Amino acid sequence: MMRRLAAGGLLSLIVLLAACQGQSSLSDRGADGLRVVATTTVIADLARNVGGTGVTVVSLLPAGADPHTFEPSPQDSKTLARAQVLLVNGQGLEEWLEPLIAGSGTKVKPVVVSEGLQVRRGSHDQHHRTAGAVPAQNESENDPHFWFDVKNVMHYVNGIRDALAQADPANSATYRQNAEQYLRQLAELDRYIVEQVETVPQARRKLVTSHDTLGYFADRYGFEIIGTIIPGVSAEAQPSAQQIGQLLQVIREEQVPAIFAESTVNPRLAEQLARDAGVRVITDLYTDSLNEPGKPADTYLKMMRHNVDQIVAGLK
Ligand SMILES: [Zn+2]
Repeated sequence: MMRRLAAGGLLSLIVLLAACQGQSSLSDRGADGLRVVATTTVIADLARNVGGTGVTVVSLLPAGADPHTFEPSPQDSKTLARAQVLLVNGQGLEEWLEPLIAGSGTKVKPVVVSEGLQVRRGSHDQHHRTAGAVPAQNESENDPHFWFDVKNVMHYVNGIRDALAQADPANSATYRQNAEQYLRQLAELDRYIVEQVETVPQARRKLVTSHDTLGYFADRYGFEIIGTIIPGVSAEAQPSAQQIGQLLQVIREEQVPAIFAESTVNPRLAEQLARDAGVRVITDLYTDSLNEPGKPADTYLKMMRHNVDQIVAGLK
């Protein structure tokens, strides 16, 4: 650039400046790199691993927030308006997103990272059947908690890689390399989970959680979902006294070793239920959100290892 300036003089300088300005407004890749917005802390973490140092990733949901009941702020609208890539979980997890997109005026098309995955139904049907209760209200509810099967997260990562490459083709090779490296770590995590689960006797691989988050985990790694305290795949509903009584009965009948309360849900009911059933309660399972940076479950890989260690220790 310096050589061309010296040779061409003032006219070249003007032409060059104009060209540079034109270029920067076209690609709009600022000093912070590609601006990626993810809805959840889990997806944001995956995007950071794929994007590397060349991208800025923001999660709309802060650590510890419940995605089902989240209420976006005006700041979230501004964040979204500046996004060049928007990564979304989908299948009803982010019911607050559509109005936020409309209000922000963003033209960016959401990339639904779960698209193409096999969707499971909420497993509360099973609990109600076991408990002999009335059929569940939302029987056909789709379960958005795909990330508890590591294979599904590999699918997320491939989608994120493609979305970043499309928005920023100049760095597509970097995104591909980063994704490959991260996929290897995911494969390792998957093996770790399988190995750890094998140490739990088959008859004790039974799960009761705050809400219906671990269905994909159960399907992939061989657990039975006995019931959930909050009925359904959303954390919004409140259980009735009758439902709690039925769940208590099932926990006793099935000899469930422990109850797992999730970090995004108030543990009060889980603790009470565990007391009544005379079983252990584990209160730091991270399901719908990562932990704050610097804490034990602040990345997807650490969150899953932490959860598996908690589950295995709780059920043994
Ligand atoms: Zn959830």
